[in-house]
Amino acid sequence: MDDSVLVVGGGIAGLAVSRALRERGVPVKVAERGGAGSGGAGSGGLAINLPGNAITALTALGVGDGLRRLGRPTGRREYRSARGRLLFAVDEDAFWGDGARPRCVRREDLLALLGDGLDVTLSAPATVSRVRPVAGGAEVHYAGGERAKHGFVVGADGVRSVVRAAVTDRAGTRSSLLSAASWRFMAPNPGVDCWTVWSGAGGAFLLIPVDDREVYGYASGVRGGPIGDTPEWLQTTFGDYPSPVRAVLENMTSVYHSPIEEVRAPRWSSGRCVLIGDAAHATAPVWAQGAALAVEDALVLAGLLADGSPWDTAGARFEQRRRDRVTHVQDATDRFSRAAGLPIWLRNPLMPVIGPRVYREAYSSLRSFELP
Ligand SMILES: Cc1cc2nc3c(=O)[nH]c(=O)nc-3n(C[C@H](O)[C@H](O)[C@H](O)COP(=O)(O)OP(=O)(O)OC[C@H]3O[C@@H](n4cnc5c(N)ncnc54)[C@H](O)[C@@H]3O)c2cc1C
Repeated sequence: MDDSVLVVGGGIAGLAVSRALRERGVPVKVAERGGAGSGGAGSGGLAINLPGNAITALTALGVGDGLRRLGRPTGRREYRSARGRLLFAVDEDAFWGDGARPRCVRREDLLALLGDGLDVTLSAPATVSRVRPVAGGAEVHYAGGERAKHGFVVGADGVRSVVRAAVTDRAGTRSSLLSAASWRFMAPNPGVDCWTVWSGAGGAFLLIPVDDREVYGYASGVRGGPIGDTPEWLQTTFGDYPSPVRAVLENMTSVYHSPIEEVRAPRWSSGRCVLIGDAAHATAPVWAQGAALAVEDALVLAGLLADGSPWDTAGARFEQRRRDRVTHVQDATDRFSRAAGLPIWLRNPLMPVIGPRVYREAYSSLRSFELP
């Protein structure tokens, strides 16, 4: 029996919880199938948008100074029509305040920051095939047939989590209501100076500067269902959008098409096994909450495992602390996804009226975050 916590997965959630546990003096090992620093879902050199509560959580994790050296603040959000008309804008710096200015950073930079100085033992072998809660811990099976018993197991193994089967048999993945897949890409900055999305009947095209030279781009459908998986879909859907969009379409440097899968799980823990991050609640990136929720989960769980109370009850206490906040994000995601599918003749006149309120409703309650 190994008394340490085994963290399965070394993405944002796994690195964050390992860091938080180390800081609180709890022994931890990591099993990452891709090896150290492999980067988690969709690392691919692309970027990630971090709203203010992600900045707050990363600062609480102790990497705030490093974070301020990465990427660029988003500054403001502009929601525009397919013709370029400004429907509404949000001053994000004013909304979140100085200590929590949203930023867009390269994923590999964020993962390197989370891994910097993190001195944890990597388990070898590292691909976990099954986890089974047992009295006083959990039994971990590896792909090569080896087994080990740990005092606690954290499933931070993403959307297709294998640890999830140890916790519930009633959770699978489902497609996002907004779009079953999306495109992500980088491109030279065509002159965009803040988070800007253009939406039409067939899709939404988002650009966020990561520095003065490059933008991160994201494009999806808006009415659910599949979208084209060849770049021609981008041309056909957005080829007549305003000039910054057309310039990006001509100059993309890295282009990925991937499904947007969500996880809605009725429970996140069983015995001494707990799911965090995407393994527990992957949600379409409508409000860009993936990293924020993963790091918040990590801080809360590490606090509970370090507070001296029995590890047998840590899972239930974790769910009690986290369920309402995650449900709020999931509900806000579904509401926005349905609204985005309204016909343009209705959506465009409605947006200036309800848009600022929808932004406030999604984010206001997320501005405060209390550690256990
Ligand atoms: C298109 C798209 C855009 C997004 N944009 C944003 C955004 O702008 N902002 C934001 O905050 N979020 C965004 N997200 C969500 C965000 O990427 C995720 O929420 C976040 O990466 C979750 O991290 P995680 O560590 O929980 O999971 P992952 O990043 O999936 O990490 C899981 C890790 O576990 C490892 N692993 C898996 N199975 C095993 C196993 N059996 N054994 C050992 N290791 C294993 C994997 O190799 C991986 O390293 C986006 C998601 C998508 C799909």
